[in-house]
Amino acid sequence: MRFSTKAVHAGYQAEATTGACSLPIYGTASYAYEGPDELSEAFVGRRFGHIYSRISNPTVSAFEVRMNALENGRGAVATSSGMSAIATAVLTLASQGDEIASSTSLFGGTLHLFNDVFSRCGIVTRYADPCDLDAFAAILNERTRLIFVESLGNPKLDVPDVAGLAALAAGRGIPLVIDSTLTPPCIFQPRDFGAAVSVHSATKYITGNGTAIGGVLVDLGTFDWTTSRSEHVAQFGKRAGRLAFLAAVRKTIATNLGTAPSPFNAYLHCTGLETLPLRVKAHCSNAGKLAGFLARHPKVVEVNYPGLAASRHHDRARQQFDAPGGLLTVRLGSKEGAFRLLRSLKLARNVANLGDVKTLVIHPASTIYSECSQEECSRAGVSDDLVRVSVGIEDSRDIIADFRQALKQV
Ligand SMILES: *Cc1c(COP(=O)(O)O)cnc(C)c1O
Repeated sequence: MRFSTKAVHAGYQAEATTGACSLPIYGTASYAYEGPDELSEAFVGRRFGHIYSRISNPTVSAFEVRMNALENGRGAVATSSGMSAIATAVLTLASQGDEIASSTSLFGGTLHLFNDVFSRCGIVTRYADPCDLDAFAAILNERTRLIFVESLGNPKLDVPDVAGLAALAAGRGIPLVIDSTLTPPCIFQPRDFGAAVSVHSATKYITGNGTAIGGVLVDLGTFDWTTSRSEHVAQFGKRAGRLAFLAAVRKTIATNLGTAPSPFNAYLHCTGLETLPLRVKAHCSNAGKLAGFLARHPKVVEVNYPGLAASRHHDRARQQFDAPGGLLTVRLGSKEGAFRLLRSLKLARNVANLGDVKTLVIHPASTIYSECSQEECSRAGVSDDLVRVSVGIEDSRDIIADFRQALKQV
């Protein structure tokens, strides 16, 4: 099946009892067995069956199967948020004394997770510019357990050489974990560039309507886990072979941390995927048009959108992505200018989210990065005059008209 067909059908066919055409929401915490022997067999893995919805749930499984089909992976695990997908992936690979080699161009929440949470568990993060392979090579050592980058930095919108980073990681026997939130699988296939694991905030383009928080991680099937340098995965390697990473995620980390999503949210993510290719096409087309308008506007100091030929990241974005995404940033020259724009927009709303069908705007410096240092902000591409725009799927003429009238107030 091709992409759009898998987006609609993978993971769920009409269920046998009722014929329900749309994915049912299995609102159940647990599952009944005939007797103690059967339940015990399910616990020890001698028979297949759902046991308890913190471990697995049929609605959640359908979303996992669909997401995995769209990334051509080995298997997926859904989580309660994008943050918990990242936390689960990292904690599966790294233990006390281990290190993460991470991009400096990160979503604010991820930066806090690495610096404020993992540091307290004895996991050290070293940072490098994701577009500088030599700098990345220089922060790797024998304790490094993974390389972590965003496919398209949020909000810097820089585009790392994914194949180059994957080769660097493979040369050291460690996986490349890529946060692909800004480039959903209809425009970017991280597997084709050698990434080992992808993580997504399903809250964003995957669900699409801004209706639920969620996350997912996918084992992309490119990495040989049987020789993993991560102790925990290596332990599973003996029993689970090539499924060692997924087994370690599911059996130890996700289950015991309790990262499972609610079946209702999984239903929204799975249903959202059905229209993903259509929505993302509209997001990208509108973002291109708005970026073109803003680039010609005299009050705009700078527009950053990888789809613009003037962007430093244009060539690599074209090489790696089928479309440049739905996010752009614009600089107004001062914080006051940025705030005047944000206050004057009528259609575009001030919202801490992205990937919604509605056009959303935010001032990253005073919100997502308000607790980050000046240096962290500047490395993540966050300046005081920067506005991030998540371009929606409204009629592009209405979006542009809104920015035109708001820029008059700047
Ligand atoms: C939003 C976001 C996250 C976090 O996802 P949540 O679903 O909000 O937990 C992680 N990475 C990126 C790039 C994001 O945009």
